[in-house]
Amino acid sequence: MATTTVVAAISKPGADFEIVEREIPKPGAGQVRIKVQACGVCGSDELTKKGLWPGIQYPRVPGHEVVGIIDEVGAGVSEWKKGQRVGVGWHGGHDGTCLQCRRGDFGNCRNLQIPGISYDGGYQQYMTAPVESLAAVPDSLDHTEAAPLLCAGITTFNALRHSGAMPADLVAVQGIGGLGHLGIQFANKFGYRVAAIGRGSENATLAKKLGASAYIDSQSTNAAQELQKLGGAKVILATAPNSKAMSELIDGLGPNGRLMVIGATFDPIAVTPMQLIGGSRAIQGWASGTPADSEDTLHFAELTGVHAMIETYPLERAAEAFERMMSGKAQFRVVLTM
Ligand SMILES: [Zn+2]
Ligand SMILES: [Zn+2]
Repeated sequence: MATTTVVAAISKPGADFEIVEREIPKPGAGQVRIKVQACGVCGSDELTKKGLWPGIQYPRVPGHEVVGIIDEVGAGVSEWKKGQRVGVGWHGGHDGTCLQCRRGDFGNCRNLQIPGISYDGGYQQYMTAPVESLAAVPDSLDHTEAAPLLCAGITTFNALRHSGAMPADLVAVQGIGGLGHLGIQFANKFGYRVAAIGRGSENATLAKKLGASAYIDSQSTNAAQELQKLGGAKVILATAPNSKAMSELIDGLGPNGRLMVIGATFDPIAVTPMQLIGGSRAIQGWASGTPADSEDTLHFAELTGVHAMIETYPLERAAEAFERMMSGKAQFRVVLTM
């Protein structure tokens, strides 16, 4: 068996990707080693590329949309077996001892580990990960299509299922991109009345194909008014990282409506207390979920035929894949194959 492995690493904040050979890592106690098949390229990988997350040790290998096969288990691992197909998402491990963990809220662990930030992620052929980060991946799902479900998928799926929307409610999905194209599909399969909101008319046909019953062009119309014409949205899933666009939609919420924010940006959302008080509206953020939530996402996608639309690149072209994702022109998720 080979003893070396290829990784795409960032040597310091702001550096370009370097393709380097390393010793194949050994899984420690409570860890498994995964022979990686595919890893999605996520906007949050920029945190590692540019050093925007405090405390990252370099060199660091990004990647938190990992699908592969367990090829070795460390000491004390009994639940997971060699040969088993697994995925690792944003939730890369928790301590089990902090106050949040003791309350059972593992997703908010004070010492939450994130693949590609806390330890080397999936932009490599072999990766080690703690067992509490693992999600079982159904056999019927292709590894390149399953990978984006471990961050983009779980985030939209989980945000929607915790949004309070019920079947037949009007749910708007803002942004038709990596997150939004999955959000529209999940919202449709959950039985919502789905309004997709995009800039320009180019994605109208696709949005309807993905399950939207209405398409709102936020460039040529006032999207909030259009939502009110449809009765007002119970939930707006804000996926495009554009705080101004999100702010402009708040008046499109119906009574008890909720803006669910998953498009990550550092810019403030503008809203007046009056906008929220009238109609008891709310704004809430949502961050992915636990590995058990990932399994729910994968099973639901398998059951209902929700598919990620992807562009694939070999690991050696990680730099190009990352640029493609950052350009916003990919249709829609970029996935590395090993
Ligand atoms: Zn992500
Ligand atoms: Zn904890």
